[in-house]
Amino acid sequence: MHPQKSHAGAVLTIDLNALRANYRLLRQQAGSAACAAVLKANAYGLGADRVAPALAAEGCRHFFVAHLDEAIALRPHLPPPAEIFVLHGVPPGAEKECIVHQLIPVLNSLQQIQAWHALALEMGQALPAIVQVDTGMSRMGLSPVEVEAWLDNSAFMKSIQLLYVMSHLACAEHQDHPMNGTQLARFNALRQRLPNVAASLANSSGIFLGPDFQFDLVRPGAALYGIAPVAGAANPLQPVASLQGRILQTRLIERGDHVGYGSRYSASEQRRIATVSVGYADGWLRSMSHRGVAFIDGVAVPMVGTISMDSITLDVSAIAAERLYAGAAVDLICAQHPVDAVAELAGTIGYEVLTSLGNRYYREYVGG
Ligand SMILES: *Cc1c(COP(=O)(O)O)cnc(C)c1O
Repeated sequence: MHPQKSHAGAVLTIDLNALRANYRLLRQQAGSAACAAVLKANAYGLGADRVAPALAAEGCRHFFVAHLDEAIALRPHLPPPAEIFVLHGVPPGAEKECIVHQLIPVLNSLQQIQAWHALALEMGQALPAIVQVDTGMSRMGLSPVEVEAWLDNSAFMKSIQLLYVMSHLACAEHQDHPMNGTQLARFNALRQRLPNVAASLANSSGIFLGPDFQFDLVRPGAALYGIAPVAGAANPLQPVASLQGRILQTRLIERGDHVGYGSRYSASEQRRIATVSVGYADGWLRSMSHRGVAFIDGVAVPMVGTISMDSITLDVSAIAAERLYAGAAVDLICAQHPVDAVAELAGTIGYEVLTSLGNRYYREYVGG
């Protein structure tokens, strides 16, 4: 759905200049490592077709998505020499699609390695790939036993042009978490057995663990989009997404009146309530009911009542009535109330807030 701006319940603004500034900061932080960009889930909900060219213009050459079809859809927006890597590898039988679209799989299992190897033999040439090893997350990549089977088979080394060996950190946003050192040690032990192969370990937060974690290629996603990379520290990134909802109508309620489904809010005195045209179907997570907040001209207004599918209700008693006309703007994500703060009120992480952003919003791209 592509709503008209004047009809939409909310406007989602995506600042491509801020995105580019974040990329520059991360690249600088990554020292001599190349800086990739992770664009899975439609660039964390912000629009891969717009984010990708903006980052390519900034000099980014390595792009990661999760699914093969995400990579195929992205290719027209990212012509070579940009390289597109598929984090989940190739679904069995779809290997040739990678060749057709010039995509590079991340091989996560012996089965995926075997299939890529078979295609290389069929084509009579070595085929490029990344191999992922599991260093402690138990999610994707070769297990220690599979690593041995892979390294023991010299045919794989001939048929597969190994661009990087990679792994993924489980706890990188917590800088003093012991898992970071454990995973680094396991990764370094593997690297000693592949001395001439480039390596990639760090996501956004991993970049900030320092040079030991950066290797040859870093893979930030969240930080590009303004999410704080280090728990408990100031966020050096610029916000990229902002969201302005619109007031549908307002009403005065009296002491004892209720608001919303379940009648869980009741007014202790006369209040003015504004209904805003954004709800959980737009990704305004229902877990924020009774605890969310919005801003009007910089003044915080609490969300009251349960969040509905298509609307929320705000206690706007603190705001001058003239400011509360139908169509008036209300800031839901803004500099004062960034994605991470929204996430905390929803009991989740900024990643989920961004990737939940709905498709009924009018999306406006600025800069780029
Ligand atoms: C999602 C993902 C990233 C990016 O992580 P952020 O925390 O968003 O920077 C990097 N590598 C892998 C394997 C991922 O799945």
